[in-house]
Amino acid sequence: MSDRLFPEEWQSGPRYGGAFTFARCPASRDLSQADVAIVGVPMDMAVMYRSGARFGPRAIRDGSGGLRPHGLTADELEEPFASLRVIDYGDLTVIPGYIEDSAAKIQAEIAPIVEAGVFPLVLGGDHSTTLPVLRAVAAKHGMLSLVHFDAHPDYWPLRDNRMHHGTVFRTAVEEGLIDPEASVQVGIRGSISSGIIAETRAAGFHLVTAQEFAHQGVRATVEDMQRRASLPVYVSLDIDSVDPAYAPGTGTPEVAGLTSREIVELVQGLRGLPLVGFDIVEVAPAYDSAEITALLAAHLVYEFLLVLAGK
Ligand code: MN
Ligand code: MN
Repeated sequence: MSDRLFPEEWQSGPRYGGAFTFARCPASRDLSQADVAIVGVPMDMAVMYRSGARFGPRAIRDGSGGLRPHGLTADELEEPFASLRVIDYGDLTVIPGYIEDSAAKIQAEIAPIVEAGVFPLVLGGDHSTTLPVLRAVAAKHGMLSLVHFDAHPDYWPLRDNRMHHGTVFRTAVEEGLIDPEASVQVGIRGSISSGIIAETRAAGFHLVTAQEFAHQGVRATVEDMQRRASLPVYVSLDIDSVDPAYAPGTGTPEVAGLTSREIVELVQGLRGLPLVGFDIVEVAPAYDSAEITALLAAHLVYEFLLVLAGK
């Protein structure tokens, strides 16, 4: 038996058939045979507006059904699976209604993946999902650089509530998990106060609003990311960074966001960074239209796999 696990061959049967793992990668928890573990965290107990991101992992897996083994651009006609062993680890056992217990379980279940030297690629879940994952990743790698795509800085004051999808990165800074001076946020906009943007910048984050991004473009923003992210890099991609015209299936949509092409190019711009973790969060399929959000999220995961594979 081969010691390599490959995705099910895409010509061998209908791509929409069979049990749904991400891009038909093998369902496995054998960390000795993996470089990347795709992990679902079906939890959305920390939202303040529309719930439903608990169905995100399932939707993203469904959205991955049409993926063929190559990327979106002409120079990426190589599949990531030739150099990366990617398993679908399944979903973690969160407990609806028990948010702190669930966070502890997420951290405890991500830790052995990170300890095994396997890259955690997490499908959320609302953005509170990120906090216990960051705790597990930082326990291994030390203080992290954050590259954060979002309409919201998620840097609200805490008021004793540590599991809230809008406070994640303030908690992460307070716990010493991320260094804001080595971190970048892109896409910030919408129904948030200028005060919280100023506060986030005062904490040290390099924050690129959606309007600034529209003016400076992808290339300058990739340069910002490459220049600032000097520590081991954790990437957190809130799908609401993207305009609801391209990603309506999310809990807190904000108009005038990134296009799907722009977020793909930003993910491609992560090449060369010392990447140690990735999540994509806030996909809420109940608000999706024609599965376009799930399709985008699945493609972003795939583009990120290509980045990891060094293609
Ligand atoms: Mn967020
Ligand atoms: Mn957001």
